[in-house]
Amino acid sequence: MAPPPTLPDATAWEAVTRRDAAWDGKFVYAVTSTGIFCRPSCPSRRARRDRVRFYATPAEARAAGFRACKRCKPEQASVVSAAAQAVAKARALLDAAGGAPVSLAELSAATGLSAWHLQRTFKKLTGLSPREYAEARRAERLREALRVEPSVSRATYETGFGSSSRLYERAHLLLGMTPGAYRKGGAGMEIRYTIVGSPLGRLLVGVTARGVAAVLLGEDDRLLVAELEEKFPNAARERVDDGAEEWLGGLVKEVARRIERPGSPGGAPLPLDLVGTAFQWRVWQALLEIPAGETVSYQELAARLGMPTSTRAVASAVAANRAAVLVPCHRVVRSDGSLGGYRWGLPRKRALLEQERATS
Ligand SMILES: [Zn+2]
Repeated sequence: MAPPPTLPDATAWEAVTRRDAAWDGKFVYAVTSTGIFCRPSCPSRRARRDRVRFYATPAEARAAGFRACKRCKPEQASVVSAAAQAVAKARALLDAAGGAPVSLAELSAATGLSAWHLQRTFKKLTGLSPREYAEARRAERLREALRVEPSVSRATYETGFGSSSRLYERAHLLLGMTPGAYRKGGAGMEIRYTIVGSPLGRLLVGVTARGVAAVLLGEDDRLLVAELEEKFPNAARERVDDGAEEWLGGLVKEVARRIERPGSPGGAPLPLDLVGTAFQWRVWQALLEIPAGETVSYQELAARLGMPTSTRAVASAVAANRAAVLVPCHRVVRSDGSLGGYRWGLPRKRALLEQERATS
């Protein structure tokens, strides 16, 4: 039951948070809320620490009643692990390149996988092509630079976005706004939040100076605060009483209105400040285009994004949504018509969809 004595839980958890393929085959982790166990490098959405148990071998995890993950296949040690290790190596190379272009041929030579195989495996395990991954990392660095560099031009220059107007436009796309706007409204991630009651339970609304960054639903205020902390570990977070601040209070009211009457038209457009990778942005944008009262399957959503074979990657970007109801991830269902999963509980998903259908 317990992890091997040589491997403390903290070390194992560290490996899991880094999805470190080097630990594959050395232990597995199981998630109590899903009943599934995974290899450390599994690309699935990371579980909460308090729901994770570590086992030295797949057999021990099975003995404790867990099932093997179908995605990372923790019992097929050698084959998947080799591919995962090649992808981990390619990621490390892209990270180390600091935004400088690395060709697929170079990655292929370094990892020993053919360009075609690497491209395919990389996408399967990370949800992004190597190029998209490099671009998303560059956008992350740009966000960071915009917080710490003294000027916008310095930040765009330092991260390689400033050298041409084409790249600057690219930065705009990746950030969802101009770097100047990002910096101006940004002041880092300072999230101020309020928790109020709603027909769907306790409602946490977190905002930055730019817009709504988080909408979370739950039963227990302490768990909502923990979820916010988990999603924004590096942000400054401050709880504010409802109504004590005009900007926050106004947004809370508007979010609450949408939760009370989902699908009903009207109301001011809500400014959103969603932090995600370039890939997640694309998926969330596609969610915003699903009209109230309608649903799509994960497959259909992937097809709309032009990536029909990447249903899993699309599904995990849907699951990474931090703005319940506003970014309508509840409108994605299984292709057999069943509801599928929902981060904030199936009864809430059902209630939202029923009300939207009734209204529209
Ligand atoms: Zn897994």
